[in-house]
Amino acid sequence: MRKKIVAGNWKMNNDLSLTEGLITDLKLQSKTSDAQVMVAPTFTNLWPAFQSLRETDIEVVAQNMHFAENGAYTGEISASMLKSVGVKTVILGHSERRAYFNETDELLAKKVDAALNNEMTVIFCFGEELGDRKSGNHEHVVESQIKNALFHLEASAFSNIILAYEPVWAIGTGETASPEQAQDMHAFIRTTLANKYGSEVADSVSILYGGSVKPNNAKEIFSKPDVDGGLIGGASLKAEDFFAIVNAF
Ligand code: PGA
Repeated sequence: MRKKIVAGNWKMNNDLSLTEGLITDLKLQSKTSDAQVMVAPTFTNLWPAFQSLRETDIEVVAQNMHFAENGAYTGEISASMLKSVGVKTVILGHSERRAYFNETDELLAKKVDAALNNEMTVIFCFGEELGDRKSGNHEHVVESQIKNALFHLEASAFSNIILAYEPVWAIGTGETASPEQAQDMHAFIRTTLANKYGSEVADSVSILYGGSVKPNNAKEIFSKPDVDGGLIGGASLKAEDFFAIVNAF
C-alpha cells in the first residue's frame, strides 16, 4: 500500500507570530483520514514549528536546501542543519525554485543526492508549463525532468522519494488540472518509473498532485487511482481549508 500524503507548502508566507497562530489552528483540527500530514514553513520558522508540533502527527518539512554539507555558501542551508532542527524531509525542485532561482535538473540531482546521503526523504517536484501542455509536449517534459534528476539513483533510493507532479500552469492560478489530466499524467509517471526500476518500485512510490487543490476539488482529484495525495500552496495557509483537504481522502 502506498502512503497517502497531504503536504502544505507555506512558501514565503507568515512571520513567526503568524506561523504560531496557524500552528495553533492546525492543532485544533481533527483528522478523519489516514493521510500523513506535513507542513513546510520558511527556514526561520522550522525550529519553532518542530517544537510546537513534535507531540502531534504533523511532520515539519523544509522547502529547499543546498547540496553542500557546509562552507562558503552565504545565505544557504544544508541537510545537516535541517536535521539538527528536527527536519527529515525536504521539498526539492519546486517550479518557483526552477523559474526564479534557475534550479536545473543537474543541480537538483545533486540536491537529491545530498538529501538521501543524509537519510532524508525528498518530495521531488516537477511539471510542465502551459506551452508544453498546449503543444502536446507535457509527457516528454515531465519524463526528462524525472530522468535527469532521479534516474542515476538505485532502486532502493525510491523508498525515500515522494514525487509531486505540479503543472506550472495550475500553481497559484486557480486553474487545476482536471482529475483525468492528473490521473493520466500520474499513470504515465508510474509507467516511466516501472520501465526503469520495475513495477514493484513504481507501485510503491507516492505521487502527489499540486496546483490549486482546494477543499472543493480535493476529493475528486484524490479519488483517482494513481493520485496518492497533494502538495498544497494557497489553501494550506488556513487550517480549516487545509484539513478539509486532508480529510478529503
Ligand atoms: P497552489 O500551490 O496550491 O497555491 O496552487 C501549489 C504549490 O506550489 O505547491
